[in-house]
Amino acid sequence: MNDITGIVFDIQRGALHDGPGVRTTVFLKGCPLRCAWCHNPESQTFEPETGRSGRIYGRALTVTEVMAVVRRDARFYAASGGGLTISGGEPTAQYDFCSALLAAAHGEGIHTCLDTCGALDWPRLDALCAHVDVFLYDYKATAAGTHRALTGIEPGLPHANLRRLLAAGATVRLRCPLIPDANAAPDHLDAIAALGRDYPAMAIDLMPYHEIGAGKYDDLGRPRPALETRVPAAGETAAWLDTLHSAGAAQAALG
Ligand code: SF4
Repeated sequence: MNDITGIVFDIQRGALHDGPGVRTTVFLKGCPLRCAWCHNPESQTFEPETGRSGRIYGRALTVTEVMAVVRRDARFYAASGGGLTISGGEPTAQYDFCSALLAAAHGEGIHTCLDTCGALDWPRLDALCAHVDVFLYDYKATAAGTHRALTGIEPGLPHANLRRLLAAGATVRLRCPLIPDANAAPDHLDAIAALGRDYPAMAIDLMPYHEIGAGKYDDLGRPRPALETRVPAAGETAAWLDTLHSAGAAQAALG
């Protein structure tokens, strides 16, 4: 299993925002979505790419090679409650590699997080639960038309999978990108609040739109997606948070 090869576009050691404690985050290339706000456009295609700057995005690595990097910070994981996070792209799009990497980490007693949009068949997502300690689960839009327009896919599968994971008792941290004039609308905030009321043990991170990473589109020679939005003011993000708290989602916080 550990000679399975995946296409990895980055490995970040010492990550502090991709799950509990100090983590090593492994970013896999390839994603079935095309979110209009995507900050990692280099993650979207499955093949390695070379930017105009000469930077290479993506290289083939085996599970054994990735684990050799992950293992280096084992003492920090033990001291902080951290571990391995697999992100992307959509990491489950490289299903066999993602699954083998999660199993290898768990086999060594390393805590695991999986950052996913949930756009895969339920039996395959369910099968990953054995080796995922925390799902970092994207909740991108509520209304079907908005979801389709902003991400390129229908919301039915990711929304249903979220409920299935929660019903199965998985530990989920909900990650909610909030894009002014796009998805940050009352119906979406209401739906997030409803999930917070239904699952009060679930952490909810509100992730306001930002423009970090916009230069990557130029380097890749791709136009930025047309998106009428803006970076929200601090008062606007505080109002979103107040709305959720007032609606009973006390666990919501700015991520
Ligand atoms: S799911 Fe993530 S990586 Fe894929 S397009 Fe959306 S923001 Fe980008």
